[in-house]
Amino acid sequence: PVLPLLGASDVRRLAAEIGIRPTKTLGQNFVIDGNTIRRIVAAARLSADETVLEVGPGLGSLTLGLLDAAARVVAVEIDPVLATRLPDTIAAFRPGRAANLDVVLSDAMRITELPVQPTSLVANLPYNVAVPVVLNLLERFPSLRHGLVMVQDEVADRLAAGPGSKTYGIPSVKAAWYSQMRKAGVIGMNVFWPAPKISSGLVAFTRHEPPVTRASREEVFAVIDAAFAQRRKTLRAALAGWAGGAAEAERCLTAAGVDPRARGEVIDVAAYARIAEAKIPLLA
Ligand code: SAM
Repeated sequence: PVLPLLGASDVRRLAAEIGIRPTKTLGQNFVIDGNTIRRIVAAARLSADETVLEVGPGLGSLTLGLLDAAARVVAVEIDPVLATRLPDTIAAFRPGRAANLDVVLSDAMRITELPVQPTSLVANLPYNVAVPVVLNLLERFPSLRHGLVMVQDEVADRLAAGPGSKTYGIPSVKAAWYSQMRKAGVIGMNVFWPAPKISSGLVAFTRHEPPVTRASREEVFAVIDAAFAQRRKTLRAALAGWAGGAAEAERCLTAAGVDPRARGEVIDVAAYARIAEAKIPLLA
């Protein structure tokens, strides 16, 4: 049997009962369409024994779908009113699954600990903080092996972009440090309440090992930030400040096998790691 998910009338009724008005600052656009939830859950390719991390469960639209597909869900919500109410909603719609949910009241941009080790991240993210949330979670929770996130469509393109593409930028390179990201679909505006003004995109990811390098993740990310801070400039010019002079930037680029006249938007994360490594003195 097809289990019931939240529809438009459920979402409006729950919001009225709880007494909330969705806020823009917290990116509160709730999914009101069961078929969209089924599509997201199917695209996430969960196995039945997984623990899923959901960011921003809101009124529980996606949480219900995730509880049907996985063993446990840990839901991190920043809004205390929504976090407090979520267990009641799940108990009402899935009485048999309510014990499989942990709710954590916290900011997903800053969270460092969870009560369980999640294997997967599946979330309809608050759009204004989607990229820092994804990067923070991939950094903090190495147990996350794969996932699927819904973000602003333009951000989905950026996360999934490869070197040389128009949308390739800081989010693309940093996300590629942790994982392989690919676009997994587009979602229209009218499956949300309230409806956002822009389309959403799905991005699926699978974790991989970061490039092997003597440089730290922070050192590599500093090169990426410097390269894209002046993205119209050649890498030699853009990295002069970072390297302590254009000549030293040129030396690091050449040592890394990167053309000093190239721009930051054409090289991959492994090349950024080699540039960062070239600045570290060799041990005597
Ligand atoms: N998952 C629900 C759905 O699909 O209907 C709601 C998604 S809504 C786009 C984003 C949710 O993230 C809201 O519930 C909002 O309160 C929550 N949120 C916003 N910023 C957050 C943060 N920094 N950490 C955790 N949750 C956050």
